[in-house]
Amino acid sequence: MYDPLHHAFPGHGEAYPNSYWAETALQSSAPDNAPPEDDGAITTDISVDVAIIGAGYTGLSCALHLAREHHINAHVLEANQTAWGCSGRNAGFILKSSGRKTYASMQAKWGEEVMRGIYAEMCAGVDTVNALIAEGIDCQVQTPGYLKVAHKPSMYRALQAQAKLQQDMFAYDIECLSQTQVRQQYMDDQNAYGALRFNDGFGLNPLKLAWGYHQLARAAGAKIHTSSPVIDWQTVNKKQRLITPKGIVTADKVVIATNGYTPKGFHSLTESKTLPVLSQIIVTEPLTDEQIAACNWLTANVVMDTRALKYYYRKLPDNRILFGGRGAITGKKADDPYYPKRLLSVLKSSFPALKNLNYQYAWSGWICMSLDDIPHIYQNDDGSVFYAMGYCGSGVSFSAQAGKRLAEKVAGQAVPNLPLYQSPLPKFPFAPLRRLGQWGYFHYGKFKDTYL
Ligand SMILES: Cc1cc2nc3c(=O)[nH]c(=O)nc-3n(C[C@H](O)[C@H](O)[C@H](O)COP(=O)(O)OP(=O)(O)OC[C@H]3O[C@@H](n4cnc5c(N)ncnc54)[C@H](O)[C@@H]3O)c2cc1C
Repeated sequence: MYDPLHHAFPGHGEAYPNSYWAETALQSSAPDNAPPEDDGAITTDISVDVAIIGAGYTGLSCALHLAREHHINAHVLEANQTAWGCSGRNAGFILKSSGRKTYASMQAKWGEEVMRGIYAEMCAGVDTVNALIAEGIDCQVQTPGYLKVAHKPSMYRALQAQAKLQQDMFAYDIECLSQTQVRQQYMDDQNAYGALRFNDGFGLNPLKLAWGYHQLARAAGAKIHTSSPVIDWQTVNKKQRLITPKGIVTADKVVIATNGYTPKGFHSLTESKTLPVLSQIIVTEPLTDEQIAACNWLTANVVMDTRALKYYYRKLPDNRILFGGRGAITGKKADDPYYPKRLLSVLKSSFPALKNLNYQYAWSGWICMSLDDIPHIYQNDDGSVFYAMGYCGSGVSFSAQAGKRLAEKVAGQAVPNLPLYQSPLPKFPFAPLRRLGQWGYFHYGKFKDTYL
C-alpha cells in the first residue's frame, strides 16, 4: 500500500480500495451511484490562477467555495479518483470536533475566548456539511446521535466532568447515560460503563458525501482532474509549476489538500510536520433479526469509546456493523489480515452474541496527526502556497469549514484570529523517528487502556 513516509506520490489513476463504500456505490446500477463525471486527466500544459492538489473534502470544499463565493474557478488535481484518500474510506461520523485537543486544554493554553472561537468553527463545520447536504446530496444520513462510551467505570466520571464543562460553556445538548441506560436503550455493549450522548452527531455515507461536493464544485465552475498526480514541483519566477505525468500545470497559487496522503518531500511548508497513521475498518455481514435482538441493538447512533487507542462503530442502514480502530504502522503491513481479525475479536468481546459473525470488507486509510493535536490552515510568506491538514482522524465535518476558510485566504480575505488559521503546523522533533514514537505510543496506549 502507498506509504506517505516512503513514496513520492500516491499512485496514478488507481481504483478505489475494496471498501464497503466503494463496492456498494459502484455495484448499484442507479445513475446516482456512478462516480461523478470529471474533467479528465491533465494531458497538456496549462496555466491557471489556482491549482488545488487533492480531491478529498478539503480540496473539493475549497474549490466549491472559491467558485461560489470568490468567483475563482480553481483546477483540482487528484492522483487517483475523487475521494480516493481518507474522504472515501472513513467511518462517516459527523462530529462537532477536529484534532485531539480537549476544550479544557485549549482553555488552559489560549484562554476562554480562543477556546470559544475554536468551538464556533467546529460548529460551523457541521453547519456547512448540513447546508451542502440540504442542496440535495444523497449520502444516507442516519438518525442523529453520537455516543461516547466509557470503556471503564473511572472513564464515566471523566465523561461526566467533560459534559458539565461543555454544558456550562456552550449550553451543549448532552445527556449522561448510565451503564444500564446504554445497554437497555441503545445497545448491549459488554464493554460499556456509561456514555455521553451528543444529540447532533450522526452517520452518513462518506464517499457519497464527497461525490456530492464534487458535483457541486463542478456545477459552480471548478475543474476536477483525476488521474493527475503531482510528481514534481518547481517554483520558477514566482510561478508554481506542478509536474504531472502528461502535462505541467503552472499556477499563481497552489493549495495543498493532501492531508494524511501528503507524499514524502512534497513541499517544504509541510515536510516533517505531520505523522500519517493508519486507521483500519471492517464491515461485517448483515446481522440477522435474531442477532440484533440478542445484542439489543436499537440504535443507528455512531459510537466511539474513551480508550487512548479508540474503537468506533455504527450499525449501517443494511444492518451490517462498521467497526474501526488502529491499523498497522507501515504501508507494507497495511493489508495484513491480523488487523481486521483483531477488530473482529474486539467487536465480539463487546457483543458475545455475534460470536459466529464474519467481516466482508476490510480496508484502511492514512489519518493525519499534527504535533500539537489541532489542524492548521496556513500559507507561505508570499501567499502563493496554502495548506489545510492535521485533522487527527476527525475531519469529515471540519474539512468542509477548513476548505471554506482556505478559499477566503486564497482570495485574500481575513479569517478568524485563531491558532487554527494563524499558526503553521509545528515540526516534529527527530522527524525520521516519528514511526518509532508512534510504536511507543501504541504500547503506552495498550498499557493505559488495560491497566490504568
Ligand atoms: C479509516 C478512517 C476512518 C475515519 N473516520 C472518520 C470519521 O468517522 N469522522 C471524521 O470526522 N473523520 C474520520 N476520518 C478522517 C477523515 O476521513 C479525514 O480527516 C478527511 O477525509 C480528510 O480529508 P482531506 O480532503 O483533507 O484528505 P483526503 O481525503 O485524504 O484527500 C487527500 C487526497 O490527496 C491526494 N493526493 C495526495 N498526494 C497527491 C499528489 N502528489 N498529487 C495529486 N493528488 C494527491 C490523494 O490521492 C487523496 O485523494 C477517518 C479516517 C480514516 C482513514
